[in-house]
Amino acid sequence: MTQHVGELTPPVRLMLTPGPSSIDPRVYRAMATPLVGHMDPWFKGCMDETQILLRQIFQTENRITMPLSASGSGGIEAAVLNTLEEGDEAIVAVNGVFSERMYEIATRASSNVIKVEAPYGKPVDVEDVRRAGKGKKIKIIGFAHGETSTGVITGIDSYRKVADELGALLIVDTVASLAAVPIDVDKQRVDICFSGSQKAISAPPGMSPITVSPAAEEIFRKRKTKVQSWYFDLTTAMNYWGKDRLYHHTPPISLIFALREAMRLVVEEGLEARWERHRVNQLALIAGLEAMGLDLLVKNPADRLPTVTAVMIPGGVDDAKVRNQLLDEFNIEIAGGFGPVKGKIWRVGLMGYCSQKPFVLLFLSALEKCLLDQGFRMANGAGAAAAIRSYSQVETAAAVSR
Ligand SMILES: *Cc1c(COP(=O)(O)O)cnc(C)c1O
Repeated sequence: MTQHVGELTPPVRLMLTPGPSSIDPRVYRAMATPLVGHMDPWFKGCMDETQILLRQIFQTENRITMPLSASGSGGIEAAVLNTLEEGDEAIVAVNGVFSERMYEIATRASSNVIKVEAPYGKPVDVEDVRRAGKGKKIKIIGFAHGETSTGVITGIDSYRKVADELGALLIVDTVASLAAVPIDVDKQRVDICFSGSQKAISAPPGMSPITVSPAAEEIFRKRKTKVQSWYFDLTTAMNYWGKDRLYHHTPPISLIFALREAMRLVVEEGLEARWERHRVNQLALIAGLEAMGLDLLVKNPADRLPTVTAVMIPGGVDDAKVRNQLLDEFNIEIAGGFGPVKGKIWRVGLMGYCSQKPFVLLFLSALEKCLLDQGFRMANGAGAAAAIRSYSQVETAAAVSR
């Protein structure tokens, strides 16, 4: 018996998740570009362009700037494994699942890693990091700029200051924030900054843009031992992405085409316009959620990550039922919580392509229907109405200031 496997016919979803986000049709078209070889002279020009765009988005002139052939977690591995050797002292600020992952990876490289924690929903207090590093020879300080598991943003500048005091390199995970939230790698002197293709850049998953400062490169040169990972050894990977263009591994060429197009869209829009778009759409989303009588996990507005909003699931409402109904009835995917907040929060992503007015209004209306079906009451259309008012106010204020 041969079993028939049919053509792929996936549902058309709106992915309002913390990644992957839905992507622009231009990016799909770029992904279907006929393949060329990774050593083809034409492709080398395409690599140059990819790096030009990456440097514009990271706002850096760093030589080591490339997309790793890996998801965002590969960026964490590369950043940590290239800097740390056994015995090195390091600090990782942990306030959620992804910063915990950086800590976990760091402990595999050295047995001297200090974890400085904050409760879910808050950034790690930089004073705690300063105290933890006092009198120690700290080589790296790492944290997640946007902690996607809780929707918290952590400011970079105060961490840079402490890293300077301790003589440490600063490693910042911007998987959930690059191209949505202000980040200036050179001005803010981030030593290693990495991201993911599938979040606010809105390309398909599978690439992790990374950039490395000259100071961090110097640390790579001074290593006494080899980087544990051959694949993520940035020095040898740069033989391919650097001027020599020597074979290292075969990169996902089609994904590079897609990433290049997604980054062209970022640059066409302009970073500042993009940051503003993410800010305004989240404000409208939050206005809507609060008008519906829902609470947010992150209480302090200044700590809210513009790309991911964590909403407390109200009592008596079934987490999975709501998410399934959103999917089945409206083709909208949102995410639940994990770790200590599993079953307690929903995470709504407005990242890159998904951070759009029509999607915010659609989502609020769809959520109202799902909640109503479970007996959760609110004034009719409260969410969408509040979001509309929020947009209107922001636009009026902008018009006045012009
Ligand atoms: C999504 C995410 C990651 C992990 O990325 P993957 O692509 O799933 O490997 C790491 N850090 C942060 C902050 C993220 O949001």
